[in-house]
Amino acid sequence: MPEAQQYYIGIDVGGTSVKLGLFDASGELLARESVPTPSLACAEGYAAVVGGIERLMGSQRQPMLFVRGIGLAIPCPVPASGVITVAANIEIDAPALMAALQDRCSGAAIRYVNDANAAAMGELWRGSARGHRSMVMVTIGTGLGGGVVVNGDVVDGAFGAGGEIGHMCVNPAEERICGCGRRGCLEQYASATGVVSNYLRACGRAGVEPVELAGPSDSRSVFDAARSGDAAALAAIDTTVDYLSLGLQIVSAVVDPEVYVIGGGASAGADLFLDALRERFAARAFPASSKCAIEVAELGNDAGIFGAAYVALRAVQREA
Ligand SMILES: [Zn+2]
Repeated sequence: MPEAQQYYIGIDVGGTSVKLGLFDASGELLARESVPTPSLACAEGYAAVVGGIERLMGSQRQPMLFVRGIGLAIPCPVPASGVITVAANIEIDAPALMAALQDRCSGAAIRYVNDANAAAMGELWRGSARGHRSMVMVTIGTGLGGGVVVNGDVVDGAFGAGGEIGHMCVNPAEERICGCGRRGCLEQYASATGVVSNYLRACGRAGVEPVELAGPSDSRSVFDAARSGDAAALAAIDTTVDYLSLGLQIVSAVVDPEVYVIGGGASAGADLFLDALRERFAARAFPASSKCAIEVAELGNDAGIFGAAYVALRAVQREA
């Protein structure tokens, strides 16, 4: 099929909306759509997603026949087998949704991908890891997500837990319990929630009142305090950098990526921690890996649709 007749759909299934992007084979975003997240376990829900694809193709006056690949980024583990067994935070019947999409787009390769892994693939395709073959995405949001790419493909893992760098234990002595039920996970120190919790602890140690916070993951207020010289906020960021550099040098010993890409909401504080993170990583890493670059993500909230589309394109390339 000529390249001009190949279109790829990237779908990012979130808790409140399903975002869809239409791409050509070179990764140009041609059009986008968004629908409120329906139940993806019934005919109406499947029709809402199919309708979004129809509008995207219609916007370019292209037939559905030219949809060559569809990638769906979803917030739950996706094992390499593609068989999703763990229930997500969203209502989804993955095989039935795939069948409904295949029914309308018979010539398309359809793939599921975990949302953090999709973000990694998006940054690899058209973001700050462009041109690289290996990278690790570090998504610092409410939690700490990760995506590991080796030789151009994401490492899903046998059980769908590939790239779960937020749940590497970096402090076995921790008493507080992580969301996963274990203790001392990297996410407990190096997520937006971790920044806030580091800050509250630093305030407690110093015996000072914390600044007003909008919630348990309001890292923005901590970053603002740090920019005005607040000692506890600076100490909190130092703790984040300390654990994050510890985590990344472990990742480097296993994957040895060309670049780390820092994304997620808390990457808005990168001006406060990026230089320190680069320095401390370089000092801690195994010497051969110490030159690994650490960059800030470029695609923001669009990383998921880019990456989902790219996963589908890679599947088509492999089949060819
Ligand atoms: Zn954990």
